[in-house]
Amino acid sequence: MIVTTLKPLDEILESISPYRKILIAGCDGCTQPPRGLREAKTLKQLLELAGQLKGKKFDFKVTSVVKQCDSVLTTSALKPYVEDVEAVLSLACGAGPQTVAEFFPDLPVIPAQNSHFIGIDDREGSIMYDSCTACGDCILALTGGICPVTRCSKGLLSGACGGASNGKCELDSERDCAWELIYERLKRLGKLDLIRELAPPKDYSAKGWRVTP
Ligand code: SF4
Ligand code: SF4
Repeated sequence: MIVTTLKPLDEILESISPYRKILIAGCDGCTQPPRGLREAKTLKQLLELAGQLKGKKFDFKVTSVVKQCDSVLTTSALKPYVEDVEAVLSLACGAGPQTVAEFFPDLPVIPAQNSHFIGIDDREGSIMYDSCTACGDCILALTGGICPVTRCSKGLLSGACGGASNGKCELDSERDCAWELIYERLKRLGKLDLIRELAPPKDYSAKGWRVTP
């Protein structure tokens, strides 16, 4: 999922203050926490209240898109609303507002969220972890399903730096050492020999900027 957090209300208020008629567009896709229709309606109420306190009156419309990063779904879902709005306030990850900007180029689009990372949702601990940097050349098969590119603070590809203490990273004592996790996982899988296969330098050009699915 794409892990996001809502921007501070004051910041959103400041960004939308030049406009009165605004479409709040949620996204039912992979944003976590969810930011669909219910969250869009809640944001509308909060902004109306905050606006009143500052003597500003908005005219909000609210909708949600199945996947705001999908150009077809977004254009068809937003088209009925855009005729008489001055701006779109997007509750999607960073890809959503960019889709809106590309397909409705005359309409200002404002992000209501900050996008942080592609993450794992540890529901029991209610914590979301950065787990993939989308490097374009996945090596999880060699590392027991744990990503060193993302989860090792130094992004090391060829084993631990040796600085870990009690299983925690030397650069962040709250963070598990990714390479200790990889070691333990490979040991459990009976594949410790893989850890001796030093990974060659990574070809980050594989990350690319566009992909033909
Ligand atoms: S190796 Fe690359 S693609 Fe695979 S999980 Fe890590 S960052 Fe993502
Ligand atoms: S202690 Fe572990 S996670 Fe931290 S930089 Fe070294 S190898 Fe990477």
